[in-house]
Amino acid sequence: MTDMVRFSAKAMALTAGCVLSLQLSSGQVTNVVRDDERQLREWIKALGSDEFGGRKPMTEYEDLSINYLAGQLEGLGLEPAFGGSWFQPFGMVAVTAKPVSNALTAKGKKKVTLRYPDDLIVWTARATDMVEMKDAEYVFCGFGINAPEYGWNDYEGIDVKGKIVITMVNDPGYYDANLFRGRNMTYYGRWLYKFEEAKRQGAAGCMVLHNTEAASYGWHVCVNGHLEDNLALYDPETRNADELGMKGWLHEDGARKLFEAAGMDMDAALAAAKRPGFRSFSLKVKGDVKLAVSYDIQQTRNVAGMLRGATRPDEAIVLSAHWDHLGIGTPDESGDAIYNGAADNGTGMAGVLLAARKFTELPERPDRSIIFLFPSSEESGLFGSEYYCSHPAIPMEKTVANLNFESMGPAELTEDVVILGGGETFLDNYYVAAAAAQGRYIFFDDDNSDGWFFRSDHYNFVKKGVPAVVVENGLHPLDPSKPNIYPMESWYHKPCDEYRDDWDLTGTLANVNLQFSVGLSLANAKAY
Ligand SMILES: [Zn+2]
Repeated sequence: MTDMVRFSAKAMALTAGCVLSLQLSSGQVTNVVRDDERQLREWIKALGSDEFGGRKPMTEYEDLSINYLAGQLEGLGLEPAFGGSWFQPFGMVAVTAKPVSNALTAKGKKKVTLRYPDDLIVWTARATDMVEMKDAEYVFCGFGINAPEYGWNDYEGIDVKGKIVITMVNDPGYYDANLFRGRNMTYYGRWLYKFEEAKRQGAAGCMVLHNTEAASYGWHVCVNGHLEDNLALYDPETRNADELGMKGWLHEDGARKLFEAAGMDMDAALAAAKRPGFRSFSLKVKGDVKLAVSYDIQQTRNVAGMLRGATRPDEAIVLSAHWDHLGIGTPDESGDAIYNGAADNGTGMAGVLLAARKFTELPERPDRSIIFLFPSSEESGLFGSEYYCSHPAIPMEKTVANLNFESMGPAELTEDVVILGGGETFLDNYYVAAAAAQGRYIFFDDDNSDGWFFRSDHYNFVKKGVPAVVVENGLHPLDPSKPNIYPMESWYHKPCDEYRDDWDLTGTLANVNLQFSVGLSLANAKAY
């Protein structure tokens, strides 16, 4: 027995100890660990196999993927979470939009022509053939941020109703370490937030002013990402008519043209907008907007099972792992075109299923209900979890926490476990205690300069006020002589993200046990 296996057995014994009162001998514990690993491998192998075709939603592989998950949940003896069904269908719309005659024209002190797609790239979430705005006025709103907790409101004293808002990317902390959280970007810095806030303010459109450094990617990324098939949740009642008529990215050259047409100094405006006390203003440039739109409406499904709580069944802990991945796409050098997504997110799904099995094997059901949720369409914009969070199986006010399982492995056993979103909620204490029971410790990573905390399903729970965390493997291997031979950089979003028998899953298993342990404590906690 190697040190690693022994440690893992010990970790398991300690985690399981609070549950099973240490009725198992150490030999039995080892068997439990081995069976956990065998089961984990079986699920990852199946979900990441070529047969599942990379699990792209709204393709022939959707049925296969979600039926497999439902079958596993049923086999574990869980009940369907959605009024007798394992599935929660929702609509998605894929929109391609483009200015008629490939340009937008407007007039202030001078005329301006914004060329598509050199000066701007635009789209909409509306399911319509044409978006038309008459004489729309362009307004410069700094970062486009309304953040009372930071004493910052770019919308103060300006009415943007029916107008087109231009905002800068990122947040003020990017330029001044004393503002917001410095380079540790807040959600206010995300371009998605800019659109959400502009919509709340009643704007007709919003364009985010691109800047390669502050956005951390070049103009071509904006163009390629939005030329066609811009995805959004689809509301059949409104046909998304209440969404912004125009969303977009504005190239710096395009923005400069607009400021020139306004007779204003763009550099001075951008500099002023980075300082507290900035006031947004109209460019007094106006023009018609006419976008030719084509769209396609389709349906996809979230999957979820539930273990009903013994004494507080109307309150929930949600364990989640998105089921979708990238499907079949551009082949790699070896000619492999299937993006299997075995690690992303086969390991997460297997982790949730393993945790589900552990919950069903408890001698007594926990007090609160546990929901095992597999959202669709995470990769294309966290849509499944967004829909779930506005149509939850148990109301968000009664949802105590979301523990998200995202790209968990392969991972070697480490002394530490990284928690993104630490320092924010009461969940911290639970993780510290559960990790200590495994002989490990938590490293709270509050450096979110890469925005990673916003990039998986848990963030839709955070937006609804539900505490959520992401667990990542630690940086300090228990046995430094055996480093992970498949680190994330080597497989992330590549066709080679495939299951391998030589994967080290000791860390993955310990992390699943950690999540299970925290989930169980939360399910039985007297508080909240
Ligand atoms: Zn993922």
